[in-house]
Amino acid sequence: MPRALITGITGQDGSFLAEFLLRKGYEVHGLVRPASSPNTVRRAVLLGEPTVCGQSPFFHSSDLNDTVALGRILSKVSPDEVYHLAGQSHVGLSFEMPESTCESVAMGTLRLLEVIRDLPKPPRLFHASSSEIFGRPNRIPQDEMTAIAPVNPYGCAKAFATQMVRNYRTGYNLFACNGIMYNHESPRRAENFVTRKVCRAAARIKLGLQSELTIGDSSASRDWGDARDYVRGMWLSLQHEEPEDFIFATGQLHRVQDVIEVAFKTADLDWRKYVKQDKLLLRVTEPRLLVGNAEKARRILGWTPRTGFAELIVEMTLAELKSTSKTSRKAGSLENCTQLVITS
Ligand code: NAP
Repeated sequence: MPRALITGITGQDGSFLAEFLLRKGYEVHGLVRPASSPNTVRRAVLLGEPTVCGQSPFFHSSDLNDTVALGRILSKVSPDEVYHLAGQSHVGLSFEMPESTCESVAMGTLRLLEVIRDLPKPPRLFHASSSEIFGRPNRIPQDEMTAIAPVNPYGCAKAFATQMVRNYRTGYNLFACNGIMYNHESPRRAENFVTRKVCRAAARIKLGLQSELTIGDSSASRDWGDARDYVRGMWLSLQHEEPEDFIFATGQLHRVQDVIEVAFKTADLDWRKYVKQDKLLLRVTEPRLLVGNAEKARRILGWTPRTGFAELIVEMTLAELKSTSKTSRKAGSLENCTQLVITS
């Protein structure tokens, strides 16, 4: 039975990856930071669903800043594959807390690399890098050769971590890969990310629990995909015979405005009546035209995204309507909402 360790198992991607690997017959271990709230929805998904295919993950408690504890856990678990997903992942928050963002994202990755390099049998390592390393790129769409030029603290931290993974791959002959991932979403996305914020607001407005949605820049655009497609890409990266970096992206740009229109339509609402702009929510610097070319992942790994943008936003909005209506007395008002058969 192959053994995997996931850092950031309580996150959106970590929870999907744990389920994906359990279904593939892996023994799954997850690193959980002591500060993590045991009540987060995603952790509840992992803990509440007692088993996936008769198995459940093993949890280990450690911070990314504790090299000794990390070393002990890695020695004890002795994984074949490590998926490094942990760290502060919100770009907007990284402007408010640049130091702790760099501490978890950049230094956390370096510490993990140091621990892995000292292991007698180093595992294969996947690092969740980000399109934010490209900032305002001079190449559209971006590929694995595009120059790194981040424009926010999160992007800078990911750029450092990405480059360190490359250095340890060549310098110490580690099987270490960067997945340079563009934005990916799901109903498990944290509530402070714009897609979830919009879908949640549409549902809450529909149910009479909220009166309006305030948004920063609705013209901001991203390459948004489905998180479940991206965790499949993580696994494929580590099954390839050579350690390489891969772009994971849909190649399609959509605006925040597009998210708003699909979400409000799903809730059978006219967005014009409810959406307001607030310049105070604008970011210090906004990346431009981050859209990825995933041709290398398609050619070498056979990876392509399976879920389209509109389907994803509809699913997220319906999930919000369902979960919110459980606590709402106005559940009866859902009858006009778009129906979607969700296939997995
Ligand atoms: P997420 O939902 O925010 O999950 C982040 C995980 O990291 C959680 O398990 C969280 O633990 C943990 N974490 C946060 N701060 C930490 C710290 N200081 N020390 C240790 N652990 C910490 O993120 P995600 O969407 O699953 O993304 C997974 C990874 O992919 C992240 O590294 C992210 O930067 C990267 N990425 C994501 C996207 C995307 O669009 N989703 C795109 C590109 C790259 P708690 O549950 O305790 O908070």
